[in-house]
Amino acid sequence: MTLALYGTSVSKGIAIGTAHILESSELEIPQRTIPDYLVQAEISRYQFALQVAAQQLKIIRDHIPKHTPEDIALFIDTHLLMLDDPMLQERPLGIIKEKKCNAEHALQTQCDSIVSVFNEMDDPYLRTRKDDIEHVVNRIQRILLNQPSEHTNVVDRLKGQIIITDDLSPADTILMQHHDVVAIVSEQGGPTSHTAILARSLNIPAIVGAKHARQYVKDGECIIIDSLANVILVDPGKQIREHYLALQKQLKRKRTDLQALKLKPANTLDNKKITLCANIELPEDLSSVKSVAASGIGLFRTEFLFMNRTELPDEDEQYQAYLNVVKSLKGLPVTIRTLDIGADKHFAGTVYKEHIEKCSALGLRAIRLCLRDPALFKPQLLAILRASAHGPVKLMIPMISNLQELLQVQALIEESKQELKKRKIKYNNRLPVGCMIETPAAAMLASTLAVHTDFFSIGTNDLIQYTLAIDRIDNEVSYLYDPLHPAVLNLIQNTIKAAIKANIPVALCGEMAGEPIYTRLLLGMGLCEFSMHTSTLLEVKQAVKLTDTKKLAGITKKILKCPTSHEVSRYLEKMNNL
Ligand code: PEP
Ligand code: MG
Repeated sequence: MTLALYGTSVSKGIAIGTAHILESSELEIPQRTIPDYLVQAEISRYQFALQVAAQQLKIIRDHIPKHTPEDIALFIDTHLLMLDDPMLQERPLGIIKEKKCNAEHALQTQCDSIVSVFNEMDDPYLRTRKDDIEHVVNRIQRILLNQPSEHTNVVDRLKGQIIITDDLSPADTILMQHHDVVAIVSEQGGPTSHTAILARSLNIPAIVGAKHARQYVKDGECIIIDSLANVILVDPGKQIREHYLALQKQLKRKRTDLQALKLKPANTLDNKKITLCANIELPEDLSSVKSVAASGIGLFRTEFLFMNRTELPDEDEQYQAYLNVVKSLKGLPVTIRTLDIGADKHFAGTVYKEHIEKCSALGLRAIRLCLRDPALFKPQLLAILRASAHGPVKLMIPMISNLQELLQVQALIEESKQELKKRKIKYNNRLPVGCMIETPAAAMLASTLAVHTDFFSIGTNDLIQYTLAIDRIDNEVSYLYDPLHPAVLNLIQNTIKAAIKANIPVALCGEMAGEPIYTRLLLGMGLCEFSMHTSTLLEVKQAVKLTDTKKLAGITKKILKCPTSHEVSRYLEKMNNL
């Protein structure tokens, strides 16, 4: 029987293939000595983790649809029984008391001894019970360690498969692109998580937030991903498969039709010239920039240079990477964003490594880290300046929240210019330096910032996250992620108005720029430059070409006065049907 699971689409398309369940990577279990007076607290911590694990499993069991095969519920019940067993209820407590050690270490010691017993069993059925123990222990360990899932051991067997995973770190997603996966389904993650953005770079259908997917899908099972309808169909029948094969062909035809727009100008019906640029995350994205004839690169995320390695890239390595992009763009503008690491993007090569791994979206992220650690930041500024001698490069700063940060970066850029002068290395003395508007503070301060910067680029992914106080990688709150929230729209409008008044260019480079349903609204708000993933650029161009901006003023005003996003949606529908 076909089972339907739901999530949030982050990369549109239809895929038919076999499932490959990607299990979480090994955890690093710390070993600590606990002083006598804290032993009881450690015992309580462990007992609390057991309770949370049981709660998690019960929630999973309670959400099993009625028609689901019985053995899935039994599987969960087995895990719940294990949690109640003295082997996990009592023995680890004994180990904590005897060895005066932390709960994670006690649990691991107990797990190792159980596993070694199972390993010696002849009965294959009983041997597989070992996996169950490991899964349950892994669940408790993750709770104790308060750790998100990471897949560091991405295997080579992924070609042609649909990956089902709890969550992928951006670093893992990058590793995966080499494995020709057909689609990605993850249980965690929101639509604008960096992982989702990278998945789009793979140009394959992807659905995130598909809760408990790994409980319902078996390795090797046939599945269909319809990310246009946010659905994953498990074990589809012949008729369903035929329907989707036809749909796949239809989509392909639509994509071919859009190709006809490639070399046409992005002008509105009333002949306003709109600039459509590309966002790139990886050097591999360059070919798609050409394939849609983008007007340049509006956002070059530079984090890829820093991920999946322990050493920092030096100035030369960065310069070569930037130069490569500048040369391949042949005179079109390239907006290089300085390092935006932290939150969901980790890397090892800084003295703040441990801090970054724990860093939340509100922590020592992006420009905050760069200003704290000049050894990290200066080589990048020098490399960007050097690349600016070879083409129209712009430098863009992420996560600005006050004027001081902007001025500090400008001072460091000045210092870097002096250094290059001494070294007799060329750079563009008039390198445009822009400011990303992605905190509510920056959007409200836009008219002040505009006086001190050469351009704005609105990062709506973060602007929405910070305005609505929702972590963009937490799917528990992704239902609150709302680009049409009146507060978000008014901050965008404030930014555009401030830029127009100060006579500086303003672009929008968050995911909103690549959603054709928002194109008219943004045009109505006065936006003339959009930067997006190349997979959506031609669709947005089509929306631009069908719009008469002269008709938008009245309805845009009404939208900006709406008290709720529900009302905004009603007007937006009218606007899109004009
Ligand atoms: C944004 O926040 O909208 C943005 C473009 O930057 P990133 O998604 O890389 O944080
Ligand atoms: Mg951002």
